Amino acid sequence: MKKHNFSAGPAILPASVMEEAARAAIDFNGMGLSILEISHRSKEFEAVMAEAEQLVRDLSGAGDEYGVLFLSGGASSQFFMAPMNLLNEEDTACYVDSGVWAAKAIKEAKNFGKIEVAASSKESNYSFIPKSYALSPAAKYLHLTSNNTIYGTQLHELPETDLPIVCDMSSDMFSRPIDMERYGLIYAGAQKNLGPAGVTLVMVKKDLLGHVSRKLPAMLDYRTHIEGESMYNTPPVFPIYVMMLTLRWVAAQGGLDAMALHNVQKAQLLYNEIDANPCFKGTVAEEDRSLMNVCFLPEKAEYEAPFMEACKAAGLVGLKGHRSVGGFRASIYNAMSQESVQVLTDVMRDFAQRVG
Ligand SMILES: *Cc1c(COP(=O)(O)O)cnc(C)c1O
Repeated sequence: MKKHNFSAGPAILPASVMEEAARAAIDFNGMGLSILEISHRSKEFEAVMAEAEQLVRDLSGAGDEYGVLFLSGGASSQFFMAPMNLLNEEDTACYVDSGVWAAKAIKEAKNFGKIEVAASSKESNYSFIPKSYALSPAAKYLHLTSNNTIYGTQLHELPETDLPIVCDMSSDMFSRPIDMERYGLIYAGAQKNLGPAGVTLVMVKKDLLGHVSRKLPAMLDYRTHIEGESMYNTPPVFPIYVMMLTLRWVAAQGGLDAMALHNVQKAQLLYNEIDANPCFKGTVAEEDRSLMNVCFLPEKAEYEAPFMEACKAAGLVGLKGHRSVGGFRASIYNAMSQESVQVLTDVMRDFAQRVG
């Protein structure tokens, strides 16, 4: 019997993807070999890579002006790789400080250029998304975090600006349509919504590259990976394969419009329960609520342990909130079913009847 996995990351993947990945770990494409032991230069893996890239392009609408890369080092490596490739020491970039990941991106970027923090919600423990702020027109880019995994806030509208947007989409990539032309660079660690840990998806507009004067190590230069088609060195073969299967699944569900509808419905079900249930309350500004990570607190501290027990008994796992928010966090990424969210809301309602 499978558990209902509400973990923030590494996180739930579609069951069909895990079944196919498990089969490929034994015998890939009838080759008599595991995908774990074949060359990344084999035609079988080259086909996986080509399909993964095509799926990314089809889903996002990114044309040839973007490089699509499958890199290692996690989203955290993009915190430094993006400014290294896009900013000279004397250049300015604007950052919005909307959570701990954004703050880490700011800290790393400061090593490579002049960083202006355009807005921050740190003073209110990142419980909202800063809006209406001034941006230096001379800035090279604006860095945003589309979904703040720890706090449960999400950007529902892009700020008005002509600056290219560099965006950390680690926890909501391909959960909804993307207005691709607004972005200069998008990056996402796979382990929240795209696949297993070990690969990071990067989409970068090629004309933004090649303008910095610093020397870049080959592995940290996006152009190396564009030219090498993410095969300059051995790529993370198995994570890329599982991401490709996950993207196939997203496409088969109807693509990003279908994902968005599915995600809105699940989130509404859960937020409606939080708002109606006398035992729980939400933690963030309503207009900024995340459709991916739903954070909520018990109305009384003494509810916390018995509610966790009730969740455990019902097979619901991964619901403990991050220590910086406390309470509970239900991560309801693409692969999470409406039925599993319903099991959670049923447990919440039963709990309120029991203690109320
Ligand atoms: C998880 C997460 C990261 C860190 O990703 P790693 O792949 O572990 O480096 C960065 N940004 C956001 C928004 C995240 O959710």
